[in-house]
Amino acid sequence: MMKKTRKDPLIPQIFLSRTIFPRLVAGAEGDPALYIDIRDHNKAERAVLFDVGNIARLSPPEIAKLDAVFISHTHMDHFGGFDKLLRSMINEEGGKRITLYGPPGIIQCVRGRISGYVWNLIDAEAFGFDIFEIRGESLLHRSEEVLADEINERGLRLAPNELTHEALDGSLHALRVSASISTHASIVGNPKIIRLETAADSNGLVHEIFNSDGYRVQMTPLFHKIPSLSYAMIHEDYIHINASELLRLEIPDGMWIRTLKEKAQSGEGLGELLPSNVYEVSSKHSIKSYQDAMMRLLEFSPGERIAYSVDFLYSEDSESRLAKLASRADLYFCEGYFQDEHEDRATEKCHLTASQAGRIAKAANVKNLVLFHFSPLCMGRFSQNRDEARRHHPSVHIYS
Ligand SMILES: [Zn+2]
Ligand SMILES: [Zn+2]
Repeated sequence: MMKKTRKDPLIPQIFLSRTIFPRLVAGAEGDPALYIDIRDHNKAERAVLFDVGNIARLSPPEIAKLDAVFISHTHMDHFGGFDKLLRSMINEEGGKRITLYGPPGIIQCVRGRISGYVWNLIDAEAFGFDIFEIRGESLLHRSEEVLADEINERGLRLAPNELTHEALDGSLHALRVSASISTHASIVGNPKIIRLETAADSNGLVHEIFNSDGYRVQMTPLFHKIPSLSYAMIHEDYIHINASELLRLEIPDGMWIRTLKEKAQSGEGLGELLPSNVYEVSSKHSIKSYQDAMMRLLEFSPGERIAYSVDFLYSEDSESRLAKLASRADLYFCEGYFQDEHEDRATEKCHLTASQAGRIAKAANVKNLVLFHFSPLCMGRFSQNRDEARRHHPSVHIYS
C-alpha cells in the first residue's frame, strides 16, 4: 500500500499567486501557527510566522528563513512551541537572532522560558532576540488593567510596565529588548522604549508595525480578557523577470535585468535598456519592439493580503477593527472556535463562534475565510462550524 507522505496540511494556494505560500503548520485543529513563505523572484527566500503554537513540523531551515515572528498572546496553545524556536537557533552557526513582536508581557514570558534551561555551554553571543513588546494603544491599556487584576490575584508579577504609559503621548510604541543568551541562564539587556508605528489608518485602529523589502505587517489589538493581537501581512505589487522566457529568447543575462526591473517597478521609460543582440535574435523569435520584449520578459504579481486573528471577543469594536485589518484579504485565517449553540460560552471565554467569524469576514469583504482553531466541544463536527460561517460569507474553508 502506498504510504501517505504529505508532510503539510493542504495549502490554500489556489487563491494566491506564486509568491507567498501560507500554511497552518499544525493544520486546522492543532495549536495555532501560520507560516508564510515569501518567494519573491531574485531575492533570498524569507518567511514570517504568526504564533508558535505547535511548530513541530517546521524544519530548521524554515525557521532560519524567518524575518520575524508575531505573537497574538501567550496562552499556552499559541506560545507552547517557543522552545522549538530556541532549539533550532542552537543548531545555527552562531549569531542568529530572532525578531519577535508580541503583546504586553511578552518579554517576561520569553525570560521565563529561557530561564527554564541551563546554558553554560553556549557562547554568550551565540544567539539572541530582538523583542518588541507592543504598547500604547488604548485597547492595550484597557486589557492590561484586566490582566493586572487577574495576575495580581494569583500573586504573580507583571512585566515591567512602569516605563511605558504616557511616555510617548499616546502613540504606538514598544518596549524593545535586544537580548543575548548569557551563561547565567537569562536574557541580558534592558528594555528601551521606541516608537513603533510606521503608519496608522485614519481612525488609529490599525497600525503598521513592520516594513520589510516588498511586504509589511499591520496589527490591531483585540480583547481576550488580555490583549490578543491580530495581524495582516501585505505583500506589495511585484514585477519580476520571467527567467524561462529569458532563456528561450536567448537574451543574455546581466546587470541590465536589475535596471530593467527597477525601471519597470518605478514606471520609468524602458527605451534603451535591452542589449543590442536582442535585435540579432529578434527575427528568430519575432520580437517586434522593445515593448514586445518587455511584455514577454516582465511578469506582474498583484499585491496580496493575508490576515490572521485568534482568540477574541466578538463586539462592534472587534468587528470594525478587523473590517479594516482584513479588508479585502485574499485569505483571512480566523478562529472558528465555537458553534452557535455555544454562543454564551464564547462570550464568557472571549472566543468567537464560527458564525461570528463569518460576519467579520463579510464586514471586511474578504475573498476567502479559512477557519481553524476549534473547541474540543466541536471535535469531529467541524463541517457544522463551516456551514454556520457560510450563512454569512460564501467562501469558507477548513484545511486539515
Ligand atoms: Zn487564548
Ligand atoms: Zn487559543
